[in-house]
Amino acid sequence: YFQPQYNHSSGTMVGAEVLCRWIQSDGSIISPGVFIPIFEKNGFIKELDQYIWRKSFEAIKHWIDIGEDLVPLSVNISRISLETDEIINVIAGLKDEYNIPTHLLHFEITESAYINDQVQLIRRINEIRNLGFAIAMDDFGSGYSSLNTLKNMPIDILKLDMGFLRGTQNMDRGGNIISSLIRMAQDLDLSTVAEGVETISQADYLKSIGCDVIQGFLYAKPMPENQFENLVESAHKD
Ligand code: C2E
Ligand code: CA
Ligand code: CA
Repeated sequence: YFQPQYNHSSGTMVGAEVLCRWIQSDGSIISPGVFIPIFEKNGFIKELDQYIWRKSFEAIKHWIDIGEDLVPLSVNISRISLETDEIINVIAGLKDEYNIPTHLLHFEITESAYINDQVQLIRRINEIRNLGFAIAMDDFGSGYSSLNTLKNMPIDILKLDMGFLRGTQNMDRGGNIISSLIRMAQDLDLSTVAEGVETISQADYLKSIGCDVIQGFLYAKPMPENQFENLVESAHKD
């Protein structure tokens, strides 16, 4: 599935995150929140990650071949996939095989991955960046090590999850935290994406503090590939 990301100032689609869905034979869908933790325990997550990356390279290649206007895709890397050097060879292999412009694919690494062996992790992230791909730190602010990881990690994009504002009475305080994080990101030359944005007031506020790129139910839910293609086409016609 694809969840578009929008520039809230211009209203244009500027990217999309690739999110997996397990569709059963009766058509019902199991969410990744259910099976990913199991795959992380039994190790199958590495194969899932590689499958989704390949599908994403393939989709970009296909869109280029048919002359489709396209936006960069963002794919997830599980922390398990980052535990060995295999990941470098796999991504380098896909790059060689599909030969797509590297700016069309970003990799997201969840913040909780950063608590493992940082030296190896930094080296692996740098190798992926050296191949030309941008790295986003996912779920920033939801873990424990935010400031340290921000200081040490070679990243390009910071993804802030608005989920932590949900159920809070004290919106002022949450807003202050978000605006400080965005200022910090700007000082570090990182671009920012806010995800889990559900209301227009959240989006307007984010825009007012300098975070233009929005991903969330306000604009669109994750959708199947054909629906996403139609959306890209109609967006470029308008
Ligand atoms: P994530 O990477 O943080 O992905 C964002 C999740 O937030 C998605 O859930 C998305 O549907 C949901 N979301 C987006 N906008 C909103 C909103 O406005 N409100 C709310 N309440 N939720 C919103 P999803 O698709 O269920 O994925 C859950 C998690 O599963 C992902 O969190 C990611 O950690 C993992 N995941 C999904 N696909 C993959 C994959 O291909 N590989 C790996 N390694 N992990 C994946
Ligand atoms: Ca993500
Ligand atoms: Ca996230």
